[in-house]
Amino acid sequence: MELNPNRFMETAVIALDDIQLQTALDRGTGNADTRRREVFAELDAPDALRRQGRASRLRAMADLPDLLEQLERNITANNGHVLWAVDGNEARQHVLDICRKHNLKQGVKSKSMATEEISLLPALEAAGITMRETDLGEYIVQLSGSHPSHIIMPVMHMTKGQVGDLFEHELGMPPTNDAADMTAFARKTLREEFLAADFGMSGGNFLIAETGTLVIVTNEGNGRLSAGLPPVHIAVVGIEKVIPTWEDFAPLIQLLTRSATGQRLSVYVNMVNGPARDGEPDGPQEFYLILMDNGRSDIYASEYTEALACIRCGACLNTCPIYQNVGGHAYGSVYSGPIGAVITPLLQGKENASQLPFASSLCGACQAACPVMINLPDMLLRLRRDLQAEQDPSWRFGLKAWAFGMQHPLLFEIGGKAASAASRALAETAGSDHLENLPYPLSGWTDYRDFPPFAEQSFHDWWRKNRK
Ligand code: SF4
Repeated sequence: MELNPNRFMETAVIALDDIQLQTALDRGTGNADTRRREVFAELDAPDALRRQGRASRLRAMADLPDLLEQLERNITANNGHVLWAVDGNEARQHVLDICRKHNLKQGVKSKSMATEEISLLPALEAAGITMRETDLGEYIVQLSGSHPSHIIMPVMHMTKGQVGDLFEHELGMPPTNDAADMTAFARKTLREEFLAADFGMSGGNFLIAETGTLVIVTNEGNGRLSAGLPPVHIAVVGIEKVIPTWEDFAPLIQLLTRSATGQRLSVYVNMVNGPARDGEPDGPQEFYLILMDNGRSDIYASEYTEALACIRCGACLNTCPIYQNVGGHAYGSVYSGPIGAVITPLLQGKENASQLPFASSLCGACQAACPVMINLPDMLLRLRRDLQAEQDPSWRFGLKAWAFGMQHPLLFEIGGKAASAASRALAETAGSDHLENLPYPLSGWTDYRDFPPFAEQSFHDWWRKNRK
């Protein structure tokens, strides 16, 4: 499946007609959003916790360069290796170099959006290195040859029945519709892969600068097994994940798990301080942390710095009316939903994702759900403003004409009456109660939406008649 953010409109229309996808999205987003609301309602002062988390993230943003250097010093002091990657190419090359150095051929990986972002698996495959995804959702995605459709729940787009069919065809599992049976089957299959792996990979939810610690939050234990069982552990993490202290971590971990899965705390919170120390029976002999920029410095230096405060909880996706209806694949990016509509154009270039900032009703539900109160609607508007300069000239002319008309009441009224008469005449000729296939430039509207004719009586006329 090819990812292309500039095909949002096309793929969204297809998604709206996909009954199985609609069933999966309805259940998936609905359940996740309800759980989040319930678990936040338990708190005496949820907004105080959100403000605390936001302050921690903004403090980290303000000191980002210093914190990254402090993190590097502490990880190196713990006998870990820190490698810097300016872009995806360099990050992939670092992983391949480490594999070559230690003769690594078979890996297991816990969930990581950073490795999705740089398409690491195809690069490993091309080098003859096998990599098994071990997060259950990512495992299903890998078996189906697809992409994750949600930051937290990669198979938000699939129903239980579809997963059952996939397991039957790909793994030879006897037919079942029981999720617990499917999970147990996958767990047994994956256990063999953990034991056979010569290296493990992970992303990271937080990096604690004061102690040089990588934090991996999971519910399945696969993060701990990937990081701790094989002899080499490689983590690829975006530079924005660093926070100053454990004190900052305390509100953020509560916000992350409550917002992501509606849990007070996830089942596993793994803290990796480097390779196993002398005398420790468990843990890898080598630990590498690849700190990846890949466009983040440019965001940091722009007016969109706040977007880097995201803790990737996925709450804005679950609550967004656009995501709820079209799902993650329509965005054509590993990052979907409102946060994806903001960071994809910033990471990939606005011209390469120009439709995404418009994939929002600007209702504000995303900001209301965001545990660190990121002003996503405002950033979407600013991106639209930036893209405006590159818009079709007819669109700019139309907006200018609209602004002029709005400032001149008589012109507005005459224009309204003309539009009403014309649209009703066209609908009557077409024998329909709505207009389809209007000519360019109005086709920009009717390609994707109904166009009901204007009302015969305008609100102005109604007011004059009824209210004097
Ligand atoms: S923008 Fe906010 S709600 Fe959306 S994923 Fe990031 S932290 Fe979560």
